[in-house]
Amino acid sequence: MSFRYSLFALTLCVATRVDAQLPGAKAPGAPTSLTSDQVAARAIYKELVEINTVDDSIGSVTKAAQAMAARFRAAGFPEADVQLAGPANAPTKQNLVVRYRGKGNGKPILLLAHLDVVQALRADWPRDPFQLVEEDGWFFGRGVSDDKSMSAMFVANLLRYKKEGWVPERDLILALTADEEGGSQNGVSWLIANKRALIDAEYAINEGGGGTLLDDKPLFHSIQAAEKVYEDFTFTVRNTGGHSSVPRKDNAIYSLASALSKVQQFTFPVELNDITRPFFEQTAKVEMPSLAAAMRAIVANPRDTAAARVLSTDPRYASMLRTTCVATMLGGGHAPNALPQTATANVNCRIAPTSKASQVKAVLERVVNDTAVVITGARADRTDGAPGPVHPQLLRATEQLTRRMFGDIPVIPTMSTGATDGYRLRNAGIPTFGVSGIFSAPGETNAHGRNEKLRVKSFYDGLAFLYELVKQVAGPGAGPVS
Ligand SMILES: [Zn+2]
Repeated sequence: MSFRYSLFALTLCVATRVDAQLPGAKAPGAPTSLTSDQVAARAIYKELVEINTVDDSIGSVTKAAQAMAARFRAAGFPEADVQLAGPANAPTKQNLVVRYRGKGNGKPILLLAHLDVVQALRADWPRDPFQLVEEDGWFFGRGVSDDKSMSAMFVANLLRYKKEGWVPERDLILALTADEEGGSQNGVSWLIANKRALIDAEYAINEGGGGTLLDDKPLFHSIQAAEKVYEDFTFTVRNTGGHSSVPRKDNAIYSLASALSKVQQFTFPVELNDITRPFFEQTAKVEMPSLAAAMRAIVANPRDTAAARVLSTDPRYASMLRTTCVATMLGGGHAPNALPQTATANVNCRIAPTSKASQVKAVLERVVNDTAVVITGARADRTDGAPGPVHPQLLRATEQLTRRMFGDIPVIPTMSTGATDGYRLRNAGIPTFGVSGIFSAPGETNAHGRNEKLRVKSFYDGLAFLYELVKQVAGPGAGPVS
C-alpha cells in the first residue's frame, strides 16, 4: 500500500469502496487496561453508538442530544449552558450546544461534531450496527468513525476538564448537531441562522482531518482547512423533434453529446490557495519521487503544465489542483421511433474555493459554445472566498502534540474535495479546521459503509490528543492569537 491511496482517508465523510477487514485481522496497540477517564469516554461512545440517529422514522438525533445533556447537567453544568436547540417542526432534529465557561479572555473556540449517521441495515451487517462491539482491537458499529468518535471525545473531555476544575482562558462551545449526512434540517445551518450568538467563535475544530497509517505506523497527520464547493449544473437541449425515419442535422441528443464531449476534453486551470500550497509542500516529503518533484514544481509555478500533467495522473491530486466538472446523469428522448424533443444531463462540479459558481457556469458556456445547449443551476455564489491558512496557534499546538504522541511526521493542511459541515461555518465567517489525532489506514474505517470500524487504539489516542490540544489552544497562556 502506498501513500497514493491516502487521500481517501482525509475526508471522513467520503464513503470508500474498501469493505471490512479480512476476518481475523487484528488491530494492534489496544490498551490492555483502561484509566477511569478512558472507561468514562468508552461509556459515552457506547451510549451514542447505541442510540439510532439515522435520518428516518426510527432515528432521533434529539435522543442522543438529550442523553449527552443529561450527563452535562449531572456534572454540574448550569441549565443555561446546556441547551437543546433546533427547528420547532423537527422534534427528532434537536442539536445540543454546551458552553464551558472560561475567563473571558478572547473569543470562544467551537468544538463541532455531528450526531446523525448514515443508514445501516441489520440484514447487511454481521453484527448489530447499533451495538458498540469491541473485537480484535477494533470498535464496530454505525458512527464509530463518522462522527460519534469525535462527539464522544469532546463530551468526555469537557466532563473531565470540569471534574479537574480547569478554567480555560476563553469559553469552549460544544455543538453536537443534526443532518450533516443529509436530511433537510442541517443543525449547523440552523444554528447559524437562528442562534448565532450561541455558537459564535474565533474558530472551530471539526471532523475531516486525522492521521494516516502505513503498516500500522503513523505516516502523516492532516488538518482539513478548506473544502471544494459543490455545484450541479443542468444541460438541457430542446428540439421540435419529428419522425425518426427522417433524421435532421439538428438533434437534441447529438447536441447534448457533443457538449458533454467538450466538457470531457476541457481541463480547468490550476488554482492553488493557502491550504493546497502547504499541502503539496508537505505531501512531497512522504510521496514517491516523481510526484514529489511535480508537487514542488507546481508550488513554485502553478503554470507549470508538465508538473500539472504528472500530478493529474492521480485523480485525487488532479481534483486538488483545480475545479473539476463531470457528467453524472443523463436523460432524453420520449419514444424509440421519434426524434428527441429533449435531452438533459447533470454536470457535477467541485469548484476550487478561489472561484465562484457563476464563473464556472460562464466557462462551461464558453467551452460548449452552442446556444442550443442551455446551462442552468448556479445558485447564489457562496462567500467563502480564498481559504486562509491554518490558524497559527492551532497549527503550532498540533505540530507539537503530533511530534510528542506520534513521532516526527509531517502535519499536512488539506482541502477536502468532498464536503463536511465545515464549509457552512466558513461561509458564515468562522474558520474551521478538521483535526482529531485519530489515525487510520486509508479506507479502513469504511465510514458510511458496512462494518464501519475504528481502531481501539485510535479512539483512545484521539481522546488524549484532543484533550491536550483543546487545553493548549484555550488554556492559560494560550490567549487569543490574531
Ligand atoms: Zn461526518
